[in-house]
Amino acid sequence: MSNIAFIGLGNMGGPMAANLVEAGHTVRGFDVVPEACEAAEANGITVVDSAPEAAKGSEIVFTSLPNGALVAQTLHSVIEEDPAPRLFIDVSTIAVAEARDIADEVRAAGSNFIDAPVSGGISGAKAGTLAFMVGGDAERFEEAKPLFDVLGKSATHCGQIGNGQAVKACNNMILAVQQIALAEAMVLGERLGLDHQAFFDVVSNATGNSWSLSVNAPVPEVVPDSPANNDFKPGFSSALMLKDLKLALASAEETATDTVLGRIAEEQYESFVHDGHGGLDFSAIINEVRSKH
Ligand code: NAD
Repeated sequence: MSNIAFIGLGNMGGPMAANLVEAGHTVRGFDVVPEACEAAEANGITVVDSAPEAAKGSEIVFTSLPNGALVAQTLHSVIEEDPAPRLFIDVSTIAVAEARDIADEVRAAGSNFIDAPVSGGISGAKAGTLAFMVGGDAERFEEAKPLFDVLGKSATHCGQIGNGQAVKACNNMILAVQQIALAEAMVLGERLGLDHQAFFDVVSNATGNSWSLSVNAPVPEVVPDSPANNDFKPGFSSALMLKDLKLALASAEETATDTVLGRIAEEQYESFVHDGHGGLDFSAIINEVRSKH
């Protein structure tokens, strides 16, 4: 059993830290929001007043934070206060370049870092069924694997540092484009007089099928559990999808890759979030399509 620090006890980090406690690990945590700290304490996490304090005596430090700047700042503060060698595992979604810069700083200080963003959302974090995509040394991946086994249903080693973030950005760019393409087709079908069930029955068994339709259908009833059945809540928020698209486009620019559809998807979600719909599941983009004539 390990001594683990967990920094960022929000929607994803809170349940992940709780699952580590449940598996018998000792977890010290820190978050800047009192409600997150209270919920974590109720789940057996020892909550302390700062990230360096949480990291004291820990072999492993998890971060689950909103962005790369906060991850960099947090790891810097931990290393500065106590440079003992540790394995830092960042499960946040951040830019590939940020992950690589952070890894350089961590290694220069004598510790190790792997990027391990996740797919599976809040329900996956609670159920311990996340999918981890991991960048970094193979040995460090093996070291962390037992913890990924507690928190998720799969963990894939994707190669060098930053590759976890790279595949996450690629996957979510595909997903955003697919969800918009599906929304356009469904609205076209509606206007041609096609009912949703007939559309679903044919397309979900045909070449146009996708996760966006078979699991995340953007209209009620055809898939009973999809967010559309409950006014698009809960789900994977449009604001988080926009964040991921911006990360993908930043990488596209750095590598001179012309991602035309990715750019259009980013514009669509930017406008949708700007209009106040950032809290809705990203499949709600169908409302944006319907609003245009
Ligand atoms: P969240 O906002 O619920 O949690 C982030 C937590 O970090 C918050 O509790 C916040 O108070 C805390 N925090 C902010 N600054 C801090 C600091 N300096 N020190 C300590 N704590 C600090 O967000 P989330 O949904 O849990 O997402 C966390 C990460 O996981 C993000 O990078 C997100 O993109 C990624 N992610 C989220 C989902 C999802 O469905 N929510 C899915 C996959 C990946």
